Amino acid sequence: MADAFTDSLPILMYHRIATDGPPGLKQWRVSPEIFDAQMSALRRAGYQTITLAEWADALVERRPVQEKRVLLTFDDGYSDFLNAAIPALQRYDFSATMFLVAERIGQTALWDASYGDCAPLLSWDEIKSLQPMGIEFGAHSCIHQKMTQMGSAELAEDIKRTRAILEEGLGVPIPTLAYPYGDQNELVRRIVGEAGTKAAVTTEPGISKLGDDLLRLPRIEITNEHMPERLISALAPAQ
Ligand SMILES: [Zn+2]
Repeated sequence: MADAFTDSLPILMYHRIATDGPPGLKQWRVSPEIFDAQMSALRRAGYQTITLAEWADALVERRPVQEKRVLLTFDDGYSDFLNAAIPALQRYDFSATMFLVAERIGQTALWDASYGDCAPLLSWDEIKSLQPMGIEFGAHSCIHQKMTQMGSAELAEDIKRTRAILEEGLGVPIPTLAYPYGDQNELVRRIVGEAGTKAAVTTEPGISKLGDDLLRLPRIEITNEHMPERLISALAPAQ
């Protein structure tokens, strides 16, 4: 039987995989139990993962990918990923892409301070331990500032510095990026591209398709409300 191909790819967006945390950040936490159920549902429905680097190549070459592919992304680099997400990802043999805040690695998510206690972030050693497990890393700025609020030179410097820190620490090229808060516009995208970024994800809702602007890839935000049936139906391209 010939494999079926498709011109679209759902890119799922996660932040923390955790139960506890400030009430105001609840929307950005999926419990470990529900996350496991979501991964199990993806596997049962026949999904396999691809990385952002692979989808970026497909976009550049306008080359369809095999059906039932999904891209899992995790913003910010929270420590809970290690114990709450990795077991499920390994159980179902899934890869993922995580976006790191370069100058906050091993510290806490200071940008969430107005909500209460700031969650801890992965250390360099922890991040390096994830590399052989199929976890790919991308940039998420130096300190998680809104990019539309930076001057052009400041933004270009932030992007270059973020990449330099991550490439130095991880020993691999870091050609991808997620905009902090999903905050971007035409000027931000242009500077991000001129700084050598190959692909960037937003928080604009939707399923990514061949023909998308590589620096403006939409994602589907996944929450605790995405119980398996709803999750699977959210991945189907609109007819
Ligand atoms: Zn973020």
